[in-house]
Amino acid sequence: MKYQILSIAAIVILCSTFIAIRANARPKKPSRNTTMGIVAHRGFWNCDQAGYAKNSIAALRCAQENGFWGSEFDVNMTSDGELIVYHDSKIDGKLIEKYPYSEFKDVTIANGEKIPTLDAFLEQGKKYPQTMLVYELKPHSCDEVEDRFIDLTIAKLKEHELLDPERVMFISFSYHMCKRLAAELPGYTVQYLRGEKSPAGVKRDGINGIDYNYKIYNLSPKWAAKAKKLNMSTNAWTVNKEENMLQVIDHGVMYMTTDEPLKAREIISREGLEELK
Ligand code: MG
Repeated sequence: MKYQILSIAAIVILCSTFIAIRANARPKKPSRNTTMGIVAHRGFWNCDQAGYAKNSIAALRCAQENGFWGSEFDVNMTSDGELIVYHDSKIDGKLIEKYPYSEFKDVTIANGEKIPTLDAFLEQGKKYPQTMLVYELKPHSCDEVEDRFIDLTIAKLKEHELLDPERVMFISFSYHMCKRLAAELPGYTVQYLRGEKSPAGVKRDGINGIDYNYKIYNLSPKWAAKAKKLNMSTNAWTVNKEENMLQVIDHGVMYMTTDEPLKAREIISREGLEELK
């Protein structure tokens, strides 16, 4: 019995080591593109000018001023339908979708800004038409709430004259929201984030892009090329180390989402790729 347990433990350790190695391996046959776009993850927050505040208006402004291809941000909805730019589903232990905006309106983030409303955020977004707004819709509790969230998103983008596939694209871990956005807004880029579905499966459901953790592209080294063949857009998150940036470049992923956009810029240039702006 003792030996059986030891053998099972050894197999489990071997398998997980093998998966960990594969998840971090460079592809055997690189299929590089000639271009790569940088998406600043939660804005370019990792600098003095942004006060190191993720999802702040200052971080969006820094991404815009530095000319990165895109700036990513996370959106949640309060119970009374205010859309706010914030990553977590809870603030001070309160589930955002269950409380009205008045509960959160005075909460400040790392650089002293109030948590931005989507309205304030889009006002800054408007100022630099060349920066793609990479809008992440955070999953909510059920399809009905998520549908309301999508309706409000579309209305807000219209109101701010940003409902334009050249200005905004959508990402989400919610497959329901990706499918609905793709159906409602043909011609817009929608990328699914979770990583458990093949590009062909995602495409079959009408979604035209994937944005997967960089390890997924290492574990399924044909997926980036497969997605390209299917005319889908590809993005990888959150790629912060040089070795992982090189893997993503070798796989031929189109965009990389990173907390280190200046490092990504340096590597893209050093590797001889043209940086999309
Ligand atoms: Mg995000």
